[in-house]
Amino acid sequence: MSTALLTVENLGKTYRLPRQTLLSAAPEVKALRGVDFSLQAGRSLGIVGESGSGKSTLARLVMALEKPDSGRVLLDGVDLHRLGAAELRRSRAKLQMVFQDPFGSLDPRRTVMQTVAEPLAVLLGASRAEQRERAVEALAAVGLGSGDLAKYPHEFSGGQRQRIAIARALITRPRLIVADEPVSALDVSVQAQVLNLMQDLQDQFGISYLFISHDLAVVDLVCDEVIVLNEGLVVERGSPAQLFRAPQHPYTRRLLDAIPGLGPRAGK
Ligand code: ADP
Ligand code: MG
Repeated sequence: MSTALLTVENLGKTYRLPRQTLLSAAPEVKALRGVDFSLQAGRSLGIVGESGSGKSTLARLVMALEKPDSGRVLLDGVDLHRLGAAELRRSRAKLQMVFQDPFGSLDPRRTVMQTVAEPLAVLLGASRAEQRERAVEALAAVGLGSGDLAKYPHEFSGGQRQRIAIARALITRPRLIVADEPVSALDVSVQAQVLNLMQDLQDQFGISYLFISHDLAVVDLVCDEVIVLNEGLVVERGSPAQLFRAPQHPYTRRLLDAIPGLGPRAGK
């Protein structure tokens, strides 16, 4: 059997909140409780769950932006949380992230060129000429042109801004993109365009996605397999078709009921 691109083993994370009073114990939130999964190269894994179920915490731990309390995150068999700073920077080029809010995640004072090329400059120390060449290439891949390089985020629509964020993720030629609610802030018609783009990019470049969404319908379009998170625990996993046809866990059924036109009153 080939090594998985990404393996997450027994991942746990507890946050301690400030004490309410001097003598009371500090309250804790168990954001993740022993999460396990693996993802093969070129495949997509969906992570679904209600708000507060631990999805973004999982994304931050996989990206090594934060340390877990227990467990491991292996990229190509290498434990990211045990790497030194220089090695981690090199590994970071292989995994990139796209966030929910294309308004918040793009710096309004930076040009598209600066934004898109930044990971290449910071992680791989690319020359100016290479930065520009690769930025043009990445923009073309998301349907934007070299004429957009000198523009600023406010000159673009929400969908275009998310394309810019995706170009920024693509520029290091990553193996894995962690997308945390990448279309949740977009209009439904624009959501479909961005999801189609993400699928095209996967076909073209063999990228894997860890695709996080509170919306099972969105995950259904993109993912080969889905994990359902509830209060930091994996309560169910399977193909989107399995989860839609025969959800095993009541929590999964609740998520399905929340989809307009698919809920219990949809007559299906
Ligand atoms: P989701 O992305 O599914 O909405 P999160 O991973 O953001 O969930 O949060 C999971 C739980 O951990 C929530 O209860 C949240 O309040 C808590 N949490 C997340 N980040 C922190 C933090 N930095 N400090 C304290 N609690 C946090
Ligand atoms: Mg979140």
